[in-house]
Amino acid sequence: MKKIYLIAFSSFISFCSFSQKIINRDPQIEALVSQISSDSLKKFDEKLVSFGTRSTLSTTTDTKRGIGASRLWVLSKFQEFAKTSEGRMTAVLDTFTLQPDGRRIDKTIAMANVMATLKGTDPNDDRVFMVSGHIDSRVTDVMNRESDAPGANDDGSGTVAVIELARVMAKSKFPATIIFVVVSGEEQGLLGANYLAEKALKQNWNLEALLNNDIMGSNNSNETNIIDNTRLRIFSEGLPAFEMDKKVGAIRQYGVENDGKARQLARYVKETGERYVDNLEIVMIYRNDRFLRGGDHTPFVNRGFAAVRLSEMNENFLHQHQDLRVEKGVEYGDLIKFMDFEYLRKNTCVNLASLANLAKSPSMPQDVILDVRGLGNSTNLNWKAPKAGKVKGYYVLMRETAMPYWQKKFFTTNLKISLPYSKDNYFFAVQSVSEDGNEGLPVLPRVGLRNAGE
Ligand SMILES: [Zn+2]
Repeated sequence: MKKIYLIAFSSFISFCSFSQKIINRDPQIEALVSQISSDSLKKFDEKLVSFGTRSTLSTTTDTKRGIGASRLWVLSKFQEFAKTSEGRMTAVLDTFTLQPDGRRIDKTIAMANVMATLKGTDPNDDRVFMVSGHIDSRVTDVMNRESDAPGANDDGSGTVAVIELARVMAKSKFPATIIFVVVSGEEQGLLGANYLAEKALKQNWNLEALLNNDIMGSNNSNETNIIDNTRLRIFSEGLPAFEMDKKVGAIRQYGVENDGKARQLARYVKETGERYVDNLEIVMIYRNDRFLRGGDHTPFVNRGFAAVRLSEMNENFLHQHQDLRVEKGVEYGDLIKFMDFEYLRKNTCVNLASLANLAKSPSMPQDVILDVRGLGNSTNLNWKAPKAGKVKGYYVLMRETAMPYWQKKFFTTNLKISLPYSKDNYFFAVQSVSEDGNEGLPVLPRVGLRNAGE
């Protein structure tokens, strides 16, 4: 009797959660997502692997082998796609030189990130959204520059995702700018990403989000034999740690240790990605990166940008940073045959949906304020219109303090809202919504006293 009750109860719960999920897809983004092709990703990855090694220390002068040739090939692909963009896309090798550092660089090296910029169509919109992968590969010894290092997954997967995104998105117009970048020197110490993050900071880029893709195209772990191509991890730092000495009082007082920029971006990618990509769950990991390991988003996080890492659910360490060999019947190495290009397609689509939705959205509402005049059990918020973009209205997001995701959203065309929910018990944020329904990044309110219009 008890068992029947439990079954009935659980099916009631799942019925409720399904019935409440309304999926509104922007037809333009849906059409772009459908153009991401697993065949195309596979072809690009095979080409990358054909350069033998892409070690940062490998030859830059050989036309068929090494990091130099592989970078030039990516540049040629970006240039080819740029031709379909009516002049909006430009492609460059962004070069710089590094000296020996006594650690992972033992000679002077000519470094280069390969970058395609799809210029936004709105001259008032200076926002930049960026997607990255790293082109360099390695074997067991990080200083080995001669042996084959196919890097089909680390980070062929992220690199070809970036190339495929540039191919599909080049023809489309977005109000904001999108940068597709393949960085170098990740395995040697995040060198290309460090250079680029410093440049973005010095040149004052209005870089609102970086999606870094690293190891996201294979579906099985070595120890457990789990095969899973239905889940993708997104790593994000929760604490608003940048310049924390200035903010620590506010973080403690408002309890916003789980609401830093990267965590907000991760929530956004989860919601948007799952809206457009079927049979995929995006799993939020409450960490900047995997345990004691690093990635190219970190130099950006460290400089105050919103940056996250996308990685497959189960890594296989027999296929990562390994000399190619067979030992006791076990094959080691990061080879094409261990890739799952259908899984990589879905993960690339998550990037597309998020980038396109962001680049089509109006910019963030300005001056979002939580009005704290007087005590009460309702919440009053007000804000100003965004700097750029046409706004249909705003979503006011709400969640309980212990919940990982936004639970409710209220739509309004006004610049203020009064909600019968206590600010003691919920977090709130406001996002701008375009005519086509594209939401921008949410803005957490600051505490203030202003009424809209005052
Ligand atoms: Zn990597």
